[in-house]
Amino acid sequence: MTPAQYVQMVMPRLREKWDARCFCESPQFRKLVSFNFENYPFLSPLALADAEILISAFIRQRFHPDGAAVNKGMDVFQRYICPQCGAGMTTCFTEFSISMNRTYVSFDSVASQVAPVGYYLIGVSGFDVQQFSDVPDFLPAQDAIAYLDLFPNETGANITPQ
Ligand SMILES: [Zn+2]
Repeated sequence: MTPAQYVQMVMPRLREKWDARCFCESPQFRKLVSFNFENYPFLSPLALADAEILISAFIRQRFHPDGAAVNKGMDVFQRYICPQCGAGMTTCFTEFSISMNRTYVSFDSVASQVAPVGYYLIGVSGFDVQQFSDVPDFLPAQDAIAYLDLFPNETGANITPQ
């Protein structure tokens, strides 16, 4: 799936789900937005497109910034508070070139479950995207329906992927 298709076909459903209940406790959401290539010694800089869109659409646009952005080397950190549940989290944005940047999220609370596998629809961009196939805990989702089912449903229940 291309980013444009994702924005057109998947984001409207995710926005409906979010309006019913935020994703802060969703194991799948936590797993996707916390992807950080630096956790894998064999990866060069990669960004997970699903995560970038989710972070942009929900955290940057809907959460309340908590304090000013902080620069540390190449990284820019910004704390946010969820307007629905009050959860705190910090985004780390890093620009590697004009066309290559990435963001990942660290949650204040580690009490919530993080899914063992992150299922994605779009995949990664970066300097060597082939390397991503060696990452064991991020796999392509079966389809958009299966992907959406991993986010909280309208009754607010979180589904934990296997
Ligand atoms: Zn929340």
